[in-house]
Amino acid sequence: MGYLPIFIELEGKPCLVVGGGVVAARKAQRLLQSKAEVTVVAPVLCVELETHRVERAVRHLAREILPQDLLGCCLVVAASDDAEVNRRVARLAQERGILVNVVDAPQLCTFIMPSIVDRDPVQIAVGTGGASPVLARLLRARLETLIPSSYGRLASLMRAFRERVKARFPNTRDRRRFWEAMLSGPVAELLFSGRENMALSYLEQALDGSADVPDAVGEVYLVGAGPGDADLLTFRALRLMQQADVVLYDRLVAPEIVALARRDAERIYVGKQRDRHSLPQAEINQALVNLAREGKRVLRLKGGDPFIFGRGGEEIETLSQEGIPFQIVPGVTAASGCACYAGIPLTHRDFAHSCVFVAGHLKDGALDLNWSALVQPKQTIVVYMGLHGLDLLSRGLIDNGLSPAMPAALVERGTTLRQRVICTSLEGLAKKIAECEVQPPVLVIIGEVVKLREKLAWFESTQQSGLLEEPLFRSSLEGGTPG
Ligand code: SAH
Repeated sequence: MGYLPIFIELEGKPCLVVGGGVVAARKAQRLLQSKAEVTVVAPVLCVELETHRVERAVRHLAREILPQDLLGCCLVVAASDDAEVNRRVARLAQERGILVNVVDAPQLCTFIMPSIVDRDPVQIAVGTGGASPVLARLLRARLETLIPSSYGRLASLMRAFRERVKARFPNTRDRRRFWEAMLSGPVAELLFSGRENMALSYLEQALDGSADVPDAVGEVYLVGAGPGDADLLTFRALRLMQQADVVLYDRLVAPEIVALARRDAERIYVGKQRDRHSLPQAEINQALVNLAREGKRVLRLKGGDPFIFGRGGEEIETLSQEGIPFQIVPGVTAASGCACYAGIPLTHRDFAHSCVFVAGHLKDGALDLNWSALVQPKQTIVVYMGLHGLDLLSRGLIDNGLSPAMPAALVERGTTLRQRVICTSLEGLAKKIAECEVQPPVLVIIGEVVKLREKLAWFESTQQSGLLEEPLFRSSLEGGTPG
């Protein structure tokens, strides 16, 4: 079978759907989205179609199909659950030269409905020639993740400027170069990150400017890479990783995640270890500024979320002072990643009504914490960077009234295939660290909720299952200080 993918204009055109069930409803919905005039022929309607009928979105003929129903129809969909009815509809339509789609019977179809990625007015249609609708849906899902939801707004913006750009650049080649510069430069990115007014004024300036085609300006993306499992990246993080020219990453970012950056992107390691900064923070801040000034799209990849113990604020402050455009993408922070993968809800109606995140690293050998705020009833305490001060931390909490028997968990390399969860009590924490030779990065969760792990644990690391003998990435995850 040969197919020609085309887009048909259906606004106001009569279309027929035969069948009153959920499949018919889905097809009718698609037709309604293209503003067709839909008639449904079926003795009974499902709830969704009935709603459409009541709202007068569709016309309903409450009976079996008759040949005259097809009169003047632009296209027909046979979606009844009776194969014989569907075959009859297909024959009637074909005899009259009307396009027909029969659900689950590609051999009877004269057109097939593709899977759609809808970014109105942009539409991406995926078809497999009827071979596998499931495959088409999977492909569609992939495209959904790659194409920002605001693509439609981008297309609308381009449409609004089309005539002006045409007048400004009468030559097709210049026009194409202009649009390419706009779309691969900041306009698209400004729009995708919700800064529509800035995108507009950038376009205006570029059009009014005397330069033929404006130079692309650099930008910095401060992106949270999540706690380790690459699947926990956001769509936006992945998209920016695939378009950045240079990537600055640190110790907490797993190699599999760095590997997802554009193949030819320059990769710069700026990682730190506890007490041994390989690149001082000020130098990282400056490097971001310099690279962006060179016109590059710079991706600053941080473990977890950039604004939770991530010094994201400091890096952005420098960029803002220097007038470099930037955007910030949140990531799954270690607390929520580790808690979920360990089966420990951070809040719970019976056990925890609040949750505090605290940095447990030592300053001059001491912990500077607001103990009374930490020791509160029904509160979960999550300690980041606590490995080296854990003895002091548990003593401080106990001295301030927290029960020594309070359940506590150590989550080592959380969310990765080498995750290890060790449950103990508040007073037992420091001993366990030595006993089990716990390695960073480690997150500590203290509170009644830890008990729930007994029932809720679900993620089995390969270490526990014995599937993996060799460490996946030995040194890369050994973070200690904020990255
Ligand atoms: N911005 C990061 C935190 C950086 S501070 C975030 O939002 O997650 C570094 C600390 O985070 C580590 O010392 C450790 O306590 C914690 N951490 C980060 N990733 C972790 C992981 N995969 N498992 C356990 N703890 C982790």
